[in-house]
Amino acid sequence: MENYPNIELQNLLYELWENHFEDVPRKNLVIVKYGKFSKGRLGSIKWCKDLKGIKQIYKYFEEEHKIQDDKRITLIILTRYFTLDGIPNYVIKTTLAHELVHYTHGFHSPLPQIYTYPHQGSLVKKELKKRGLGEEYKLADEWIKKYWDKIIKEQKKQKFL
Ligand SMILES: [Zn+2]
Repeated sequence: MENYPNIELQNLLYELWENHFEDVPRKNLVIVKYGKFSKGRLGSIKWCKDLKGIKQIYKYFEEEHKIQDDKRITLIILTRYFTLDGIPNYVIKTTLAHELVHYTHGFHSPLPQIYTYPHQGSLVKKELKKRGLGEEYKLADEWIKKYWDKIIKEQKKQKFL
């Protein structure tokens, strides 16, 4: 796994699963990676329909994939802005946890879908709280409100220098 791109993300996913989602069965291969530089969408979860976009990463999971009964792959994508310096770990962690809540509720996962809509009635926030991530969620929320725009503006400026 040494040269695996985005290894720190995969580790973070395992860590979250072990410490906060230990009751949630992992029924298929779940891969997390950075996507585009997206300002408005910090994270997303979907079925991976095509290995093309994850070729490099997939190599490292081929063996694990072979032994899965359910061959579908769940792909979690985080904004590439998270690779910038100065993004607190709790922001990345709670964004990833947010997507894991969707998995837990059966959205883009083999688990039974237990709600009609993924975000109905502050569902995600409640679930994060229940799983001991409420404090970090709050911190992340505050940090994003305060600094997210600034960080992105700064980054764009630097690009043109
Ligand atoms: Zn969501």
